[in-house]
Amino acid sequence: MEILEKKTNSEHEKVLIGREPASGYHGIIAIHSTARGPAVGGTRLWNYVTEDDALTDALRLSRGMTYKNALPALPLGGGKSVIIGDNKTLDRDAIFSAHGRFIESLGGAYITAEDVGTSPSDMEIVRRETRHVAGLLSGTGDPSPYTARGVFRAMQAAAKHAWKSEELAGVTVALQGCGNVGYNLARNLHAAGAKLIVSDIDPQKTLRLVDEFDAEVVEIEQIHAVDADIFAPCALGAVINDQSIPQLRAQIVAGAANNQLLEDRHGETLKERGILYVPDYAANSGGVFSGCVELLGWKLEQLSKKVDEIYNTVLNILELASAEDISTNKAADRIAENNLRF
Ligand code: NAD
Repeated sequence: MEILEKKTNSEHEKVLIGREPASGYHGIIAIHSTARGPAVGGTRLWNYVTEDDALTDALRLSRGMTYKNALPALPLGGGKSVIIGDNKTLDRDAIFSAHGRFIESLGGAYITAEDVGTSPSDMEIVRRETRHVAGLLSGTGDPSPYTARGVFRAMQAAAKHAWKSEELAGVTVALQGCGNVGYNLARNLHAAGAKLIVSDIDPQKTLRLVDEFDAEVVEIEQIHAVDADIFAPCALGAVINDQSIPQLRAQIVAGAANNQLLEDRHGETLKERGILYVPDYAANSGGVFSGCVELLGWKLEQLSKKVDEIYNTVLNILELASAEDISTNKAADRIAENNLRF
């Protein structure tokens, strides 16, 4: 495999591009920071139009992983890898073997797991070439229930901060995306007595929530603007932007999707509108915590405890933001950056 170091103007420690003509492998590993430990972050497989698009994604996502891992003071840094390819046509065995060899060449500086477009069975192929991989079939399995539980705890903390009570009974939640996390979040919310308004591009997904949790379904273009107390983005990133913010009616935004703010400044706009935003990487860290069973040898009780602690982490962020009169995303970044300095 040909491995080239890519020089960028970013703050990343190392960015490498790997190509293997025989298998058609073309991937990027971005290591943003190893200040707290080995760089951890999943492998995204996507049909990027250009290598530059893939690089931009890898740089952005790996930086996000540094903050996500630093906020709860995990002994882990931030990294991410992307593979350029078509999920439907590529030879998974050849591509993920090559990816495993690429990761192995870094000697443990980067540890991967599954992400968008990849699965635990792909990670089993990676495992044949390197031990620096988590999220295996034999591991903790699907992280979504832990992610969803963490988002639920984050909502309770936001409710406590905004409404002086963490009680979610009678609260209306607008849920965008009823996939793995969305479904499990809906289950938690229904059990707590919350009312659900939901949307998904896949009608089967919403139907399940209607049947099981008495949810009301709205069109995908409407979900962020419905009359709800909490808006929970659990599908895509960048849903909080100049177009959507003026239409929001919820008092709280808290969900699982990564990179919910199109740009950092949108955190400030939410603040100006009096909408309490729970920073995405604080709310959705249950998924990373579930990986810590494999990565750090956590027991399942420790995992549950850590997911539960998302409540206090979020409450601290919201209190800091209020005390300093800054946006909540800035407050979260500040805590994460302090942990990066130790
Ligand atoms: P998923 O693919 O299972 O679910 C996403 C759902 O969103 C799908 O049902 C899809 O049909 C739906 N969707 C896509 N576009 C939509 C749109 N425009 N409007 C409404 N619905 C739409 O993914 P997931 O594992 O549930 O993850 C959800 C989000 O949370 C993603 O952004 C993911 O990156 C993030 N996240 C997930 C985890 C985890 O543990 N799975 C951890 C951290 C962050």
